[in-house]
Amino acid sequence: MIERSGYADTRVGETLPPSIRKLLVSLGVWDQFLAEKHSPSYGIRSAWGQDYLYDNDFIFNPYGTGWHIDRGRFDAMLARNVEHAGTKLYRPAQLISSAEDGTGSWDIEFACEGGRKGLRAKLVVDATGRKSLLACRQGAKRITCDRLVGVVCFFSSGSPQFRSDNDTLVEAGEDGWWYSAALPDSRIIVAYMTDADLFGKASKRTPNYWQPQRRNAPHTHARIRSGALQSGPFIFAANSSRLDDVAGKNWLAVGDAAMAFDPLSSQGVYNALMSGVLAAQAIECSLAGDQRELHSYAVVIENNFAKYLVAREKYYRRETRWPNSLFWKRRRVTERQFYKASRLRRADDSALSNIGMT
Ligand SMILES: Cc1cc2nc3c(=O)[nH]c(=O)nc-3n(C[C@H](O)[C@H](O)[C@H](O)COP(=O)(O)OP(=O)(O)OC[C@H]3O[C@@H](n4cnc5c(N)ncnc54)[C@H](O)[C@@H]3O)c2cc1C
Repeated sequence: MIERSGYADTRVGETLPPSIRKLLVSLGVWDQFLAEKHSPSYGIRSAWGQDYLYDNDFIFNPYGTGWHIDRGRFDAMLARNVEHAGTKLYRPAQLISSAEDGTGSWDIEFACEGGRKGLRAKLVVDATGRKSLLACRQGAKRITCDRLVGVVCFFSSGSPQFRSDNDTLVEAGEDGWWYSAALPDSRIIVAYMTDADLFGKASKRTPNYWQPQRRNAPHTHARIRSGALQSGPFIFAANSSRLDDVAGKNWLAVGDAAMAFDPLSSQGVYNALMSGVLAAQAIECSLAGDQRELHSYAVVIENNFAKYLVAREKYYRRETRWPNSLFWKRRRVTERQFYKASRLRRADDSALSNIGMT
């Protein structure tokens, strides 16, 4: 395994649903997860489709609470378990090149410890996140549904009220939506989600645009008023997207590298782990000589993405307060429209604009 970071970089993807428990139990890391002292989350409060907040408690969830995690700590814990299971982890290390040698094996070159190292592999997994580095080098294309970005800040949780408030708060606004959550170590994450072009235009007009915008999100504003900005804003791509080909000859993609969900779903980490589990099964069969399993893996991932698109549209359509807002209009695209456009199998905006996705 080749990992670029030391897991100390700024990471997002910190709200986990209660169902994460069954995955972590099946991976044998549940007790370690609990020992890491992440914060339990008792539910979600949303002002979505209406001005007032309504609660969605996890109280009846069979898996218990959700979680607000320190994502770097979580990823480092998973990496430690990979090493304990016998995998050599190169970190910090960066992929330089990957090429099939004509016999079906791969030559991998990467930078590590100030030098260059090489590996040979029968099969390669692309887990590089949204940029799908290896898959794109193999000719796969990213198909995007939208241009969502997250403008993310971290605050210290000043008020005792905030410290005791473990719910995720989601709040819609005219040009996007907000979420905030109390993280371990008395930190608060606050993210403003909007489209890259809308953000770009507004930022030109008003420097630090997200700050005044905060006042248009009264619940979020009230929640972080007494906190002090620690770091940010950091801007992350957050579009819904997938590869046109999730697997090829002796390679496959997992996690965001295969398909990436809108953070509204809070399913990114769950799906990354789940796709890893499915990929491991497909790889086992493939190395035993059954190449069809890589194809089956791709079909499962593609179907999951189709189901996700239906849920995404349904949820966004519940917000009707700003009928003329470009941000909300763009989110009325149906799954059928998306697939009609993506028959081109290219993540190019000119194709998507034919059906009003841009
Ligand atoms: C603003 C925002 C908020 C989000 N909130 C949530 C949330 O609350 N809950 C949730 O479940 N999901 C959330 N997500 C989605 C979640 O972050 C992703 O789905 C999840 O991180 C995917 O995990 P991954 O391991 O596939 O990819 P990543 O987390 O992107 O990890 C990719 C890894 O590959 C490494 N890497 C990249 N390039 C190289 C290279 N060339 N060489 C070596 N290593 C490399 C990186 O260092 C990194 O460790 C959010 C996303 C955004 C943008």
